[in-house]
Amino acid sequence: MTTEFVKIDYNKDMESQLTGAAEIIRRGGLVAFPTETVYGLGANALDPDDAARIYLAKGRPSDNPLIIHISKPEEAEKYCFVNDIYSKIASAFMPGPITVIMKKKDIIPSKVTGGLDTVAVRCPSDPVARKLIELSAVPIAAPSANTSGKPSPTCAEHVREDLEGKIDLIIDGGSCQIGLESTIVKVSDGKVSLLRPGGITVEMLEKVVGEVNVDRAVRERLPENVRPEAPGMKYRHYAPEAKVFLIVDDGTPGFIGRAAEYINSRIAEDPRTGALCCSEICEKLKGKYIKDLGPKTDKTEHAKHLFAYLREFDDTDVSVIYAVTEDESGIGLAVRNRMLKASGYNIIEI
Ligand code: AMP
Ligand code: MG
Repeated sequence: MTTEFVKIDYNKDMESQLTGAAEIIRRGGLVAFPTETVYGLGANALDPDDAARIYLAKGRPSDNPLIIHISKPEEAEKYCFVNDIYSKIASAFMPGPITVIMKKKDIIPSKVTGGLDTVAVRCPSDPVARKLIELSAVPIAAPSANTSGKPSPTCAEHVREDLEGKIDLIIDGGSCQIGLESTIVKVSDGKVSLLRPGGITVEMLEKVVGEVNVDRAVRERLPENVRPEAPGMKYRHYAPEAKVFLIVDDGTPGFIGRAAEYINSRIAEDPRTGALCCSEICEKLKGKYIKDLGPKTDKTEHAKHLFAYLREFDDTDVSVIYAVTEDESGIGLAVRNRMLKASGYNIIEI
């Protein structure tokens, strides 16, 4: 299959640039599109055969459900049984980087939800994504537009690397604003659980819905016999080819110096050692493969660069990577969660 490309000009009328893409969705094709979180690989969420094509193109296990994307928060009630908490979350954070899981209605095929009786719903804020959904006039089922297991794509070039020749169209809307996938919450018995941290943080959610229970799969590897609430959490994710070790900033004085000293000692032993950490540590490192995530306190910046840097390591002969994770406040929890997965929960003490 030949994959077409469209580059969005934000100064021009959006509709005329997206009618072709919407037409592809309507006739059953696959379109990769930008969102504020990561690029999505979209198809008509009401057609089970179209959903099946998404799984095939990504090499995604069929029990890992898709998120459906709507252009207005009110549309959710056509596809699932909405509750009060959804309404609160919708008025506070939608359109935006948050996904809510609710009991599905029959109109959503079970192929889309990996056989579950629930469906994950999100209304993105990105103007290209919203216009595309609106013009398609159907909800768009879309996981991240990467090959299953690889880091999610945060620019159109990443999508091209993974999916060229396997999908109909890639819409290039530039780099994603947040860089990590949406926050996912599930509501049951009036209680809110956080299944995946993202741009809408626990602190932000708690101001609107009260106490939020952080699912244990956010911070730990689940034992083999435990079924995760979000099936995607059990799969290998975001992993570059080289082994990743995670160093957690414990907040003790002198941590920056100690971390730099440790990583430098590893580089001295093997020059193919890579590092992924904040600017303050990077400044002290002497090596070939140093990726600077940004100033220590600017975790929004870390989120934006993480996936691109993980991909860049794969283009080098790096043999092992030391990543340093900051505290869990704000978007820090989401950055740490992705780093944990990239490292296969390989934490080392220094
Ligand atoms: P992605 O493939 O990056 O779009 O991630 C989607 C995530 O949402 C995966 O971890 C899925 O397992 C999760 N998800 C989607 N639908 C549901 C659902 N109905 N119940 C629980 N988790 C879901
Ligand atoms: Mg994904």
